[in-house]
Amino acid sequence: MKFYSLNNISPEVTFEEATIKGQAPDKGLYFPSSIPTVSKNFFDTIKNKTKEEIGVEVMQPYVGESIPTTVLQEIIHETVNFDFPLVKVNEGAFALELFHGPTLAFKDVGARFMSRCLGYFNRNKNQKTTVLVATSGDTGGAVANGFLGVDGVEVIILYPSKKVSPVQELQLTTLGKNITAIEVEGSFDDCQAIVKQAFADADLNTIFSLTSANSINVARWLPQQLYYFYAYQQWPYQQPPVFSVPSGNFGNICAGILAYISGLPVKHFIAACNSNDVVPAFLRTGIYQPKKTIPTISNAMDVGNPSNFIRILELFHQQLKDLKKVFSSYSVSDETTTATISDVFQQYQYTLDPHGAVGYYALIDFLGDVVISKAGEENGAGIFLETAHPVKFPETVEAATGNKIAIPDSVQHLFHQQKKSIYMNASFDDFKEWMMHSGIS
Ligand SMILES: *Cc1c(COP(=O)(O)O)cnc(C)c1O
Repeated sequence: MKFYSLNNISPEVTFEEATIKGQAPDKGLYFPSSIPTVSKNFFDTIKNKTKEEIGVEVMQPYVGESIPTTVLQEIIHETVNFDFPLVKVNEGAFALELFHGPTLAFKDVGARFMSRCLGYFNRNKNQKTTVLVATSGDTGGAVANGFLGVDGVEVIILYPSKKVSPVQELQLTTLGKNITAIEVEGSFDDCQAIVKQAFADADLNTIFSLTSANSINVARWLPQQLYYFYAYQQWPYQQPPVFSVPSGNFGNICAGILAYISGLPVKHFIAACNSNDVVPAFLRTGIYQPKKTIPTISNAMDVGNPSNFIRILELFHQQLKDLKKVFSSYSVSDETTTATISDVFQQYQYTLDPHGAVGYYALIDFLGDVVISKAGEENGAGIFLETAHPVKFPETVEAATGNKIAIPDSVQHLFHQQKKSIYMNASFDDFKEWMMHSGIS
């Protein structure tokens, strides 16, 4: 499999090159040159397959010759060694819980897969690879955890000061070793702008072998497809599910659509957004207008210019009317999100996190007239992705439910550790200056 740049200037590359480069030299995102088809037989027998078997079968065509099958099996095994349960909230709505990994958010899968691929590609090299990543909350923790101790890889994470939750901040600032956290006085978009400028900077590229671990990297983006196969494996109805995906940079939902184009039965996709509504507005007006980020309680989705949306358009050959047949997008306010957390807890004793709540609300809104008690096999039902554990957002969730969330053992230890970050203004020049003298390379 080759990958081409969506800007169409740079040459096609292998999976290995696309992973190492992150972004094409012409600044385009890499995109697979063809979409593999998953056989019907695969779906007929999917209930008997293990997560590893599904993972290897789905990822093999993308990885191609870059990674031998035995190594891919090992990588998949380490990537998906936790549960992805589909939990029934009511007749109409099922939660696909993606927060059972080490940092309690769905980004663990992409980060683990990518780190192990890079480790493999680096096996015979002398120069270190430096991973640069901007995070609005969960990416940082997942990347830090996924790359911790991987030989030959240094990780620099930029996060917006005071705009991530305490658990999120601890997850990305307490690891040490090959992980450095930069606390930026600014927004996620500021962090992302610095990272983008760094990739374009001639001096930095002379000294460092830079790569990105943001969801634009194909090694992070592509394995997210697996969630949708695992959900389908557990889906109790004959009718295909509607998927509602809490979306920020649109990597996760784009991977779901890729799975659908490969053959996965899906009725409809809903991109569930918070007040950052660039995509819902685009579907309404046909005008794509990036906006300044609005801070919300579902902060991992506070993105004013979603990088992966361009890949979704490419999947539909830029045909908006084709896209609209299977894709809708909703914007959900903070007030509605809080009310949803409260209602769902009262009615169904299920604790949503703010991101999952946006997904749940958009799903119910889409299912529309279907009264939940009548939903199900005949009247339609769907899956919303629960993308983070509610304990990552304790203030919002506890205020809405009136109930204390038990802290899982896996984060308990964080509260005894010391935050270590480098504080910086939202200035590329300051960042470059620091990097040139950091001793990393
Ligand atoms: C990153 C993240 C999202 C948004 O995912 P995208 O792939 O960027 O659309 C949603 N929820 C949580 C909890 C996240 O961490």
